[in-house]
Amino acid sequence: MLDIVMPVMDGFEFMKRKNAISEYQNIPVIVVTGSNESESEEKALLMGADDFVVLPYKKNIILKRLENIIGLKETIANLENAEKDLLTGLINRRAFCTRVKKKIDENNIRYQILAIEVEDFRRINGAYGWEEGDNCLRILASCIRDEFGGQDSILAHGDADKFFVFRKKCDDLTEKYESIQTLILDRYKKAKIKINFGVYNIDDIHINVSDMCDYVLLAIDNAKSNKETKIIYYDESFRNKIIREQMITNIADDSLNENQFKVYLQPKYDIATNTIMGAEALVRWIHPTLGFMSPGEFIPIFEKNGFITKLDIYIWERVCYLLGRWKKIFGKCLPVSVNVSRIDVYRKDLPNIFLDMIERYGVEPQSLHIEITETAYMENAERLVETVTKLKEHGFVIEMDDFGSGYSSLATLNEIPFDIIKIDMKFIQSNTIFTNSHNILGTIINLAKWMNALVICEGVETEKQLEYLRKLNCNFVQGYYYCKPIPEDEFEQKLMNDGFNPIYDMDAYLANVASRVKASEGEEAQKPLILIVDDLELNRAVIKEFIQDKYRVVEAPNGQVAWECIVSQRGDVSAVISDIYMPVMGGFDLLDKIRESEEYGNLPVIITSSQAESDNRDLLKVHGADEFIMKPYEREEIIQKLVMVMNK
Ligand code: C2E
Ligand code: MG
Ligand code: MG
Repeated sequence: MLDIVMPVMDGFEFMKRKNAISEYQNIPVIVVTGSNESESEEKALLMGADDFVVLPYKKNIILKRLENIIGLKETIANLENAEKDLLTGLINRRAFCTRVKKKIDENNIRYQILAIEVEDFRRINGAYGWEEGDNCLRILASCIRDEFGGQDSILAHGDADKFFVFRKKCDDLTEKYESIQTLILDRYKKAKIKINFGVYNIDDIHINVSDMCDYVLLAIDNAKSNKETKIIYYDESFRNKIIREQMITNIADDSLNENQFKVYLQPKYDIATNTIMGAEALVRWIHPTLGFMSPGEFIPIFEKNGFITKLDIYIWERVCYLLGRWKKIFGKCLPVSVNVSRIDVYRKDLPNIFLDMIERYGVEPQSLHIEITETAYMENAERLVETVTKLKEHGFVIEMDDFGSGYSSLATLNEIPFDIIKIDMKFIQSNTIFTNSHNILGTIINLAKWMNALVICEGVETEKQLEYLRKLNCNFVQGYYYCKPIPEDEFEQKLMNDGFNPIYDMDAYLANVASRVKASEGEEAQKPLILIVDDLELNRAVIKEFIQDKYRVVEAPNGQVAWECIVSQRGDVSAVISDIYMPVMGGFDLLDKIRESEEYGNLPVIITSSQAESDNRDLLKVHGADEFIMKPYEREEIIQKLVMVMNK
């Protein structure tokens, strides 16, 4: 409650100063005036006062006005908050639509709506964690504000990683695109992400704004399937896709009731013996008029509309039926893996659903393998660890599907208790696989083994690929080379003709593999020998502690002793981890000596250094180091880099 005429600072000056500070703007002000000061009343109201009372004070009137004004301000504040997205401070989609509608109606200008998204945003969550994921959205929001903010534009944060921009129509968005993409890419190098722009130019102002938003999102969806183009303009043909999706949604239920969905089975082979050791169940939709539809098309739609839950349960049930049937026919069961959609993987009752099924068909849990795709691990690792742990406690075998397609960090993966890793087929099918000296596939297989998991490689199509996997000590393969997914009866016939050798107990199998190796070489001798070079004993001890369960270790306090050690071990040293600055002989001199030598020239060397010396990176290349590790050391990083350099 503010008087106007006062010494030192009067009411007008007070209002002026208050208005300049945005946080104070929402504090309501009631001006107190004398009975004949209508001019200053008007002026006060113009300056933003909310109400006025006239002297002399009347208690009831003052109370009522205070109550009104405070109530009003709170309502406005609530309204504003409901429109705002707390994470980014931008308005939400609903508020966006309302404001855009108003703007279009008021002005006769050509406008456009952009949608901006981070493709595969979950990679950021996966590689950097949830908090950084939120942070990324905030950064993106502020970047969008910088690029597109201004009087005539409206900015909003839609679902998850989607943003909307309403602005005057403009044909060249490349520069703005580049600037946003560069910023995000620089910050999140590990996640290798891509920004997409969808553009909808508003030609017909009578179309519902919310529909316009859907259209521009459609354009974005099309950007995803397109590796090169990142700015996609909406075009009418995109709508046909929606129409087909709608049609598929409409007929799904009836199709399920009419048994149009079939289980196909694809055998998995033990690479060492060439026998069938398991199979994967893959759904097929054979529609009387639409024909054979690929799961690649209908599964994403069913994941969107929720039908996938019904379909998956139907498939799992059928698989349990088959397992029970084979047990009777063959006297033993072949383990079959089923896919669990990303949508259902977090369900608390998942273990119970599976338990109930196997009980009804008299099947052991070890015969039912459960495939969970790597990207699901990245979306909510904590919840997943819970579910997977429970499933494992009940004896089910967990396979991580499409391993390597996401970008989970090694640390996260290590927390999840799975039994088998299925390596994504893009690795074996990559053209560079046989020539690339940085052998990614070998690295993944070794990492998997380091995590005590068995490895299946998917998508093996040629003899050459198979031989290559044999060399890398991959355990199992699945692919067209051996057999395509085939219908149930055909598969059953195959089992009868070819026979099979089920692997029930993964731990026993692993122990068996290990003992085979042990018998031939002796366990300790089998571990690679790593030479750790550092003048500080403590530094050597830290690295040793990290790696000694997987590797044998020898230590040296400087380059000179290290070199003598390499020579005396006569090629037994598999890799060197060396500090740079040491008395007698430093890391660079050691590196030069190794690279110059005929016998040990290819020995992998990892150089360690503290943050402050990070300028040394370029020097490392000159001297021919394979990798660089910064202090403080992290176990995962050391192991990962060791595996990597030793696979070169
Ligand atoms: P996925 O689980 O990774 O399945 C492997 C896919 O690779 C299958 O495709 C299989 O037919 C294909 N494949 C196997 N060997 C080869 C090969 O040598 N070369 C090539 N190019 N491809 C090979 P499909 O059956 O089209 O399934 C695609 C995806 O759809 C599956 O990938 C899985 O994610 C999903 N899916 C399939 N059936 C189901 C299901 O019953 N439920 C759920 N939720 N998802 C399913
Ligand atoms: Mg699968
Ligand atoms: Mg797969």
